[in-house]
Amino acid sequence: MTSEQIWEEMLALRNRWLDEKASDDSGWPPQGIAIEGDFAGIQGYILKPVPGAKGAAKRLRGRSLQVSALTALLAQEVEQLFPNAEIFYSAGGRFLVHAPASPDWKAPLDDLQRKIDEWMGLQFRGEVVFHLASAQFTDGKIPRDGLRKSMTDRKMRPLAGFLIGNGAWDETRFLRTLDDPPSVFKCPACLTTANKPVIQKDEDDTQICEECDRDKKLGQELANSPRAMLVRDAGGQIPFLDGARYTIGNSGTISAHVIHHMPRDERNKPLTLEQVAEKSIGTRKWLGYLRLDADGVGSKFRELENKPARIRALSKLLHTFFRDCVQQKLGQKYHWIYPVYGGGDDLFVIGPWNVVIDFAAELATEFHIASQGKLSFSAGIALSKPKQHILSKSEEAESGLNEHAKMKPGKKSIHVLGETFSWTEFHGVLQAAYRVAGWYERGLIPSSLLQLLIELQGQTRMAIKAGDAAGAVRYRPILHYQAHRNLKNDAQKPVLEWFRKLIDRQKAHPDASWSAMGFTARYALLASRKEKE
Ligand SMILES: [Zn+2]
Repeated sequence: MTSEQIWEEMLALRNRWLDEKASDDSGWPPQGIAIEGDFAGIQGYILKPVPGAKGAAKRLRGRSLQVSALTALLAQEVEQLFPNAEIFYSAGGRFLVHAPASPDWKAPLDDLQRKIDEWMGLQFRGEVVFHLASAQFTDGKIPRDGLRKSMTDRKMRPLAGFLIGNGAWDETRFLRTLDDPPSVFKCPACLTTANKPVIQKDEDDTQICEECDRDKKLGQELANSPRAMLVRDAGGQIPFLDGARYTIGNSGTISAHVIHHMPRDERNKPLTLEQVAEKSIGTRKWLGYLRLDADGVGSKFRELENKPARIRALSKLLHTFFRDCVQQKLGQKYHWIYPVYGGGDDLFVIGPWNVVIDFAAELATEFHIASQGKLSFSAGIALSKPKQHILSKSEEAESGLNEHAKMKPGKKSIHVLGETFSWTEFHGVLQAAYRVAGWYERGLIPSSLLQLLIELQGQTRMAIKAGDAAGAVRYRPILHYQAHRNLKNDAQKPVLEWFRKLIDRQKAHPDASWSAMGFTARYALLASRKEKE
């Protein structure tokens, strides 16, 4: 899809979602049963691979694909359970199916849930769980309350079908039997001891477990399959119920719903995370881990009075934005960003730290436009060297999200380099950061002055917290003195002028915001190509 087509689709979905008066043409039946599917534990499962080894990025993509593929395949499985059933939507680890009601409609669903539990317990050792919820309706609307109640009941006893045999806990299901020789191999890529090792010829003959090997191969396949469709294949890397196997390819009819972009070198080879880090600006080659979450989506859905067409339009709008729009942006402009997962109402990507910041800011503006200002997301960015653990970095980015959400209710903000900004202020803040970075690069501002900005801003913040009004403005005379002392050349005049604005007590200057100074100075220091002073 071209950029224009994606926008056309998003705007049509937006209008459908916001149209309160339109008659429902969604095809949702007047009565029947609604079946919802939902994955749990995805994040911990996908982000488990330990980086460092060459194949980490591919394994990460392979795992993300397993989850999307399973959602799509399970939606189809449910659809085939009842005659005349139909998938209403399927995206981002979730689906909704409707089917005609029959006297015994619960039985086949209970059987399928048990089958899924049993298979997943063995296949994923209980790391991920898939929940089915269902509810009957007779009013032509999506029974959201009924589905929620059914989902809550189910989540209180996950894997029940797997662990309970004959009404009692069946220990043999999850304990290893004694004839099973204890494994001595611990996979360096996922730290599991449950699987057999496989030698990696392309990673200096290191050994990783068969599951990681499988995910890596799948990541490689994905790199060669721009359409990312699921194809039945006896030797495929995606296992499914009843011993069926799938792979990813360009034929096939079921979409895997993944962002297939991959950063590549001149010879079209996918980059490793170390190579991605090398693309960052400055001498410190750091990665940025970006997590985005749409704000208050639950309440947006609640406002729709269970109307099927409007619910589906909102669901598809979110998914189109977080998958297709992102995919398109990465392909066109942000080549060096690795998408880990995107769809539903969230996104997780890894890229050169400065590129990731630019990307988040641009995406925020487009989300605002695509939703006519009715939707926003919050972003958390964590920085690290390429070899740090991905799960812990993602959690850091997420805790940035949650922490500032408490501080600034209503969210709509970005947490980056230790500070939190609303999107409206962040665009100006980022422009100021670029400018200061340029001054520093050209030697127009000494690093000692940048360090001083960080220090003084920290003191202001503490003074404000302590209610010390005099302390909160103490930076002014110090900055005034230091700026005049350090910025004496003609070439430094614009810098000095900017410092004047910073100190100005009469009015606030959007391009010289004192509260943003910690970020601005840190950005300039990190972006520098100079050797550390
Ligand atoms: Zn492993």
